[in-house]
Amino acid sequence: MKLAELFYSVQGEGKLTGVPSVFVRASGCNLRCVWCDTPYASWNPEGEEVPVNEIARRVHAFPARHVVLTGGEPMIMPEVAELAESLADEGKHITVETAGTFFVPMPIDLASISPKLSNSTPTHREQGRFARAHDRLRLNVPVIQNLIDTSRDFQLKFVVAAGQDLAEIEDLLVKLHRWTPADVLLMPEGTDRATLAARSPWLAELCKQQGYRYCPRLHIEVFGNKRGT
Ligand code: SF4
Repeated sequence: MKLAELFYSVQGEGKLTGVPSVFVRASGCNLRCVWCDTPYASWNPEGEEVPVNEIARRVHAFPARHVVLTGGEPMIMPEVAELAESLADEGKHITVETAGTFFVPMPIDLASISPKLSNSTPTHREQGRFARAHDRLRLNVPVIQNLIDTSRDFQLKFVVAAGQDLAEIEDLLVKLHRWTPADVLLMPEGTDRATLAARSPWLAELCKQQGYRYCPRLHIEVFGNKRGT
C-alpha cells in the first residue's frame, strides 16, 4: 500500500474524539476536494509502497488499541481489506475514514463516512480540470448505505462551509436508511484555528436546531494543521 504517513496521535474528529489512535494514511484519492487538508495524499500523493505486514508491524509498535485507516481514500487501496483483517485479528479497533464512494467488504468497527458536498468541487483550481470527474464521483448512495449496513458503528461527517450546505445534506439523508441524528456530524470547514472559531458558533446553532452533532477538529485546536498529528 502506498503510505503517506503512519503516526500515533489522538483522534481529532467524530465519535471517538480524544481517543489515542494510530493513523495509517494511505496515499492516493479518487476525489480532488478544493479544500483538502491532506494534499500530500490526494492532489500530490507522496510516499512509498509498504507491504501490509510491515504496516502492521509499525502499528503494533504503538500502545494503542484504536487504529484509523485514513487517506487519501483508503478504500481504493488494493490491500486495504487484508490490512484491516490482519489488524482486527490482533484485536485492534478499526476506524475507516472514507468519502463513501467505494465499498470493500472488510471488518470495520467505525465507518467514518464523509460524503462530499458541492462546496468541495475544485471549480477553478488547476483550471478546473478535475471538477467534472469530482462531481460525478463525490456522492454514491449505495456505497454509503453499504458502509452503514455492514459496519459495527458509523458516522456521517459533513464538512460545512455555509448555511446553504444544509439543504444538500438533507437531500442525501432522505435517501439513506438506518441513521439517527446522533450519527450525523457537522464539522466546520477550515484548517486554522481562526477560521474554525469564526464558523463554530453558527454551526453549533445549526446543530441545536437540527439535532445533529457539532464536530470539532481537536487536532487543529491542539496541534495546528501539521502533518503527523
Ligand atoms: S476525499 Fe478526502 S483525501 Fe480525497 S481530496 Fe477529498 S478531503 Fe482530500
